[in-house]
This record gives sequence, structure tokens and C-alpha cells, in this order.
Amino acid sequence: MVARRLEAFGTTVFAEISRLAVEHGAVNLGQGFPDFDGPEVVKEAAIEAVRAGHGQYAPMPGVPGLRRAIAGRHGGWVDPDAHVTVTAGCTEAIPSVLLGLVDPGDEVVLFEPYYDSYRACVAMAGATPRFVTLRAPDFTFDEVELRGAFSAKTKAVLVNTPHNPTGRVFTREELECIGRLCEEFDAIAVCDEVYEELVFEGEHIRMVDLPGMRERVVTMSSLGKTFSLTGWKIGWVVAPEELTRGVRAAHQFLTYAVNTPMQHAAAVALGMGDAYFDELRAGYRAKRDLLCDALGGLGFGVRKPAGTYFVLADHSGFGFGDDVAFCKHLIEEVGVAAIPPSAFYENKAEGKDLVRFAFCKREETLVEAVGRLGRLKG
Ligand code: GLN
Repeated sequence: MVARRLEAFGTTVFAEISRLAVEHGAVNLGQGFPDFDGPEVVKEAAIEAVRAGHGQYAPMPGVPGLRRAIAGRHGGWVDPDAHVTVTAGCTEAIPSVLLGLVDPGDEVVLFEPYYDSYRACVAMAGATPRFVTLRAPDFTFDEVELRGAFSAKTKAVLVNTPHNPTGRVFTREELECIGRLCEEFDAIAVCDEVYEELVFEGEHIRMVDLPGMRERVVTMSSLGKTFSLTGWKIGWVVAPEELTRGVRAAHQFLTYAVNTPMQHAAAVALGMGDAYFDELRAGYRAKRDLLCDALGGLGFGVRKPAGTYFVLADHSGFGFGDDVAFCKHLIEEVGVAAIPPSAFYENKAEGKDLVRFAFCKREETLVEAVGRLGRLKG
């Protein structure tokens, strides 16, 4: 039995594809997790924190040292006590924000393709989603279409930049356009910035840093992508005091508090110097180029993503009916797992020619995947 508000969403595509990847022994370019480990100093810090006896509940909003480190990543305005809440990955930040700030009957604007959690959490909050499509090949939005999605009932718009799965990094003009609509319709912007350090072209602009936006922006991020530690499930929300009240109102009853020793280690991670982030980006740029160049050579329609560790490629040259059929063939016959992006669209047809590959993998994994993809007939 599944509650009616959730039954339409089935099993998340990430769990489904991960299961099939294991079952078929496929090289897994599906779910976005690195097949390499996070920094040794951070792992050591976690072991140290366990040894030091941090074995009990953390404070509900998070360990103070981690909240200070998170505040330090923003401008001086962020107060660790009043504005920062630590969550169980960004995945818990999403329902904390939506359940804590959105009422049944409110509307929430989502850009599609959207990360599947957003859609399900809007439903759990009893809110109504309004969709705006980012279309290939640029994956930008139409201002008129966006305006049409806002109404007097709009409570929030969800903005994910850098964007999963398209790899788009939203420009200042795009973010300003969204911001103007938030002001006009008195809505908040809920920004998922978990790929903030993975930008190869352009720059990551925080919506909250745009003039006049501080009081209406909630920023969510996490440790997972930046430190190759997706399994640690440490995330956070930065929001003005008034909005933090709502976030914590939900967070306290979802998880109450997050894994204590990992929070201590996360504070160490956030203290790492620029060299770490530069190396991370350089490594991912090389992986992006390796995979994208190979996909292009094999006959996929591909543009290098400006950010994230995903590439959304066009598979229509291979003659499959849709993304689900293509990904099934890939896993079962080619031995490579990828994500069928129609899972991220309300209008499934918009995603049918696309396939999402993750390149957060060791070079040898990517080379093996590319070798197998050579079995495809273009
Ligand atoms: N963010 C990851 C991705 O897009 C998936 C996380 C999850 O499995 N829920 O691949």
C-alpha cells in the first residue's frame, strides 16, 4: 500500500537503475556517486570524531563548528545560529524547506527536467506544482512561459544551479529574471546548489547574493558532491531567520538532528584550501571532456555541460523509441547503466530523446564504459 499522494511516483529512478546495474554487471554511469573516495584528512577527522566520543545527538540545528564553517562560505551576513540548519544531505533539506514553508494549496514553480525529489516533496507538502520546461540544446527558459507559471498562489520557485541533469549554470540575467518574479508575486526562491563547486564554464552565482533577495532566498547545499562523500548524507540550509523558523519546524520532526561525528568531520572538509577545489574541478573537467568527446564520436548529440558531473546527451541517432527503451538496451545488451531522463519530466515526451550519463567516475571506469558503448550501432 502506498499513500495516494505518493503512488504516482513509483520507485525513484536512481534506486531502480542502481539495482539493474548490479543485476546486469553494467558499468554504472547512472546514479551520480563517485567511484572514488573523499579526502583522507576528512576521513581521518571522522575517525577522530568517533574516537573523541561524539556519540550522542547533535544539537537540532547542527554542530556549532559545522554551522560556523557553512556560514563562512557565504558573505558576512550569515549568522550560524540564526541562519544555518544542518540536514541529512540536501535530500532532507528539500522536504524540510517544502514542508516547513509551503502549505497545502500553495503553488510551487519547478523547472523541468527536475530532480525527482522536488516533485515528490511538493506532493508531500500538498502543494500544486507548476512546470516550466528547459529545452535542448540550450536548456534555458522562456521568460513569458516562466511568468505564466507564477500566480497569486505561488509560494516558491525551485532553482537548481548548476542544474541536474542538464549541466546548465544559470546566468546572472536568468537568476535576476527569476528574482524579479519572486518579488512581484511575493514568492521565495528555494535554491539547490549542491554542484556549486563543479563549474567549468561561466561562474556559479548565488541567487541569495543578488540585490534585494536575501530575505526571500533559501539556499541548500551539501558535502556529497564537493568532497566525493555522497554516502555521508551531510547537507544544510542557509536562510533568513524568518524562513529558518519554518525549515527547523519541519527538520526537528523529520530527523531532529544529523549524525554527530560526521558533522565534526564535515567542518574539517569545509576548511580545505583553494588547492583542493581547483584540483577537484580540473579532475572533473578532464572526465567531462573524455566522456563527452567519446559520446560525440559514437554518434550521440552532445554539448559539454558548463557544470555538475552529468551530461545529458541525445540518443535519437540510434533509433530507439524513447529513453526508457534506450536505457534498457544499454544496461542489458551494452553493459552500461545510465538514467532515462523522462523521470525528470512531467511531460515525458520532452525527455524521450535524451539520456543522462554521470562522469563522476575513475578514468578507467569511463574508458571501460566508452569501450562498451562502442557496441552501439549508430
Ligand atoms: N543526486 C543523485 C543523482 O542525480 C542521486 C541521489 C539519489 O539517488 N537520490 O544522480
